[in-house]
Order: sequence, then C-alpha cells, then structure tokens
Amino acid sequence: MSDLFEEPEEEEEEEEEPEAPTTLKRILAQLTQARIDERISTDKWQHAVGQTLSQYHLAAYAHGANIDLRQLTPKDHNLVQAVIDNQLKYLDGYATAWNQGRYNDRGEVALHRSEMYAAATIGTWWMGKTRGWPLPAWPGDGTTQCKTNCNCSWRIDVLEGEGNANAYWLLGGSDHCQTCSQRAEDWAPIQIRDGDLQI
Ligand SMILES: [Zn+2]
Repeated sequence: MSDLFEEPEEEEEEEEEPEAPTTLKRILAQLTQARIDERISTDKWQHAVGQTLSQYHLAAYAHGANIDLRQLTPKDHNLVQAVIDNQLKYLDGYATAWNQGRYNDRGEVALHRSEMYAAATIGTWWMGKTRGWPLPAWPGDGTTQCKTNCNCSWRIDVLEGEGNANAYWLLGGSDHCQTCSQRAEDWAPIQIRDGDLQI
C-alpha cells in the first residue's frame, strides 16, 4: 500500500529525497477541476479530497520510513493522524471559501491552492524518514515561513548507546526563508539523548 506514494526503494540509498507526489497532485487537480466545472458539489469535493489526503499522508510516512503500511504502529498512526486532522481543518476553511463563492471564476487560484495540499505530504515523508526520533519539526511541515516549499532536510548522526543522536537541520536549494536559516544555525546539531530531545 505504501506504493500509493511511490514504490519503496529496493535498497536504502544514502541521499534519498522525498519524491514529489505527482499522482496526488493529479488527483487533487482532477477533483478540484470537477468542482470548478460544477460536476461535483463542495461537500463531495471536500469528502473526496479529505479521503485522498488521509491515504497519501499515511503512504508518505510509510514510504519515508521505508516500511509497509501494515507495519505502522499505533504511535505512528497517532503522529500521522495529527497531521491529517490539521490538514482537514484547513480543508474545512477551503470548503467554506468555495461555498462563499470566493473561487467563482478563479479556477486557477483554486488549483494552485489544491496543489499546496499535495506538497504538505513532504513533511509527513520526513516524519517517517526520521521515525523514532523526537524532532521538533520536519522540513515542509508548514512550520517555516517557506511552508511547503522547504527544500531542507534532516541529517541524523546516530551515536552509540540507545536513543542517542545528533540531528542537523540542513538547508537545501538556493532560497532560504528566515525560519530555515535560523534553524540551520540553532539546530546544528540538536542533541537527542536517551530518546529525549535536549532543548
Ligand atoms: Zn527550508
């Protein structure tokens, strides 16, 4: 099931990158186009988008963790569910905007807004990738000024013993927002000792 997001890698690669969720983008674009053309109601649209997002966030997490959906623990599910709940809350506001007519004759704007929901799965991918480490945030999780356009990554140097690591927020791409630049300075590294974050 994690192949919803993308086929799991055969071998763990050093420089694995989150894949752009092309299929998700396409599905969201199709659903939103159907709403623009008034082939479906706002309610139907919201329901279908919500279900799709829930599926893809779980798949993104599993793919990042390089495990099958069936291997997700209740703790994993809780983590991802919190992200999904947040997205569904945003989606509720989006649906209200549709009903208020804010996207009448502004289909392009709506399509762009839908695309950002797809990008948000990158943050969930990073949550899976860094599974088991109590990190304060993840690239693309929306907690930076660059929101889902974040190209940063976590590097985790696992240390000896149980639950020990140094984690580095690494800048990616050429444009860095203020939040990410600050994190690259402050979280260089953050220390995790005995499974606890030391800040
Ligand atoms: Zn960033």
